[in-house]
Amino acid sequence: MDDEKLKNILFNTKKCGWEKTTEEEKNEIFKLGDEYIYFLNKCKTERETIEFSKEILDKNGFVDIKEKMILAPGDKVYYINKNKSMYIAVIGEKPLEAGLNIVGAHVDAPRLDLKPNPLYEDTGFAYLKTHYYGGIKKYQWTTIPLSIHGVIVKSNGEKIKVNIGEDDEDPIFTITDLLPHLAMDQMEKKLKDGISGEDLNLLIGSMPYGNEKTSERIKFNILKLLNDKYGITEADFQSSELELVPSFKAKSLGFDKSMVAGYGQDDRVCSYTSLRGILDIENPKKTAVCILADKEEIGSMGNTGMESHVFDTFIAELLNKLNENRPNLLDKVFCNSRMLSADVDAALDPIYASVSEKNNASFLGYGIGLNKYTGARGKSGASDANAEYVAEVRNLLENNDIPYQVGELGKVDVGGGGTIAYILANKGIDVIDCGVPVLSMHSPYEVTSKYDIYCAYRTYTAFLK
Ligand code: MN
Ligand code: MN
Repeated sequence: MDDEKLKNILFNTKKCGWEKTTEEEKNEIFKLGDEYIYFLNKCKTERETIEFSKEILDKNGFVDIKEKMILAPGDKVYYINKNKSMYIAVIGEKPLEAGLNIVGAHVDAPRLDLKPNPLYEDTGFAYLKTHYYGGIKKYQWTTIPLSIHGVIVKSNGEKIKVNIGEDDEDPIFTITDLLPHLAMDQMEKKLKDGISGEDLNLLIGSMPYGNEKTSERIKFNILKLLNDKYGITEADFQSSELELVPSFKAKSLGFDKSMVAGYGQDDRVCSYTSLRGILDIENPKKTAVCILADKEEIGSMGNTGMESHVFDTFIAELLNKLNENRPNLLDKVFCNSRMLSADVDAALDPIYASVSEKNNASFLGYGIGLNKYTGARGKSGASDANAEYVAEVRNLLENNDIPYQVGELGKVDVGGGGTIAYILANKGIDVIDCGVPVLSMHSPYEVTSKYDIYCAYRTYTAFLK
């Protein structure tokens, strides 16, 4: 054997995925990319993602588990939790005791939420006060077009859906920033202090209502408009969930259109590809499960977050309806299960390469990114996948000819992060983080590679099969 050949065998050399894609593959990659961009533009909140997913599942033979008294192999069911998270299953030939194949992504994304009492007037303008959700760089959310998405629930239970800023005819909203001419003091501050959380106030109007004797006429005008349109009063904000998200559209990025730029790709890129994955599953050996979780960005707490017991209840429900259940079986099911925690990976950004360690970083366009562990400062808080399990996943990827890269989230001691992986691992499930590398993560306009999106879809499908 010549040296070059030997070197190829011995070295783990990573290659750009585009190098060896055929024309046929390219067509598939770009088709999936277009479908994904359509999805991103339809789904900018967790509620919208769940609603969209339900529609697709209904069209593809899935039914709400509540409609099924008895389950059998091949059945396709889902459970929607409070309109914000969802569990989907295709029942396998083997009993659940043999373990589940789970792919779990999250459908929430960093954003600005309205405060419970958001509306105020100041010197000729009306504003809505916000409280940011998840890890954001606050300065990135000023001077961009924002739309308002969510629900207002009146005390009589009537629910009003809100979605303003997406249609071309819709107005948009924005948060102002200081002109550079007068920003000398602001520019001297640390980046994190340049914009304060209490200054993230959304500009929503400037026209007065009524006659000059009335006070707060701009706020009055806004409330009048909202009352005409939605039948709400100021008090109804208290029982609303209104989210500010970037109103610009997701698009193909680059002259070569090889990438996708869009809001909320962490983690809707993995949500979409896992959903597409489970749609392809027919009569699997082991039961295939897809999780679309909420609240990952703020620690997975609450009854729609992964820390809640609702997922256990769903699996217990499967056991009951398969007539398989017996005391403590659920724990055993989990111990025999395996999972891909489908969450995005921090890609190496050449402009900011100093935070990544090249041998253990993920690269855009190099395939699905695996993180054996996440955490920070000495792996603290990490769920560290067992070597035996990593080998299993490698084997699956290699057998299906899916390029993968195993890395870490940045250099040691530079920062860190977490996913839902540890929550499922705590139940005894074998879990590894496995997702699409992203540039500008948590910004209003994140960047991914269409090649990696395609790899994610193929990975999740192969895993669930
Ligand atoms: Mn994520
Ligand atoms: Mn995130």
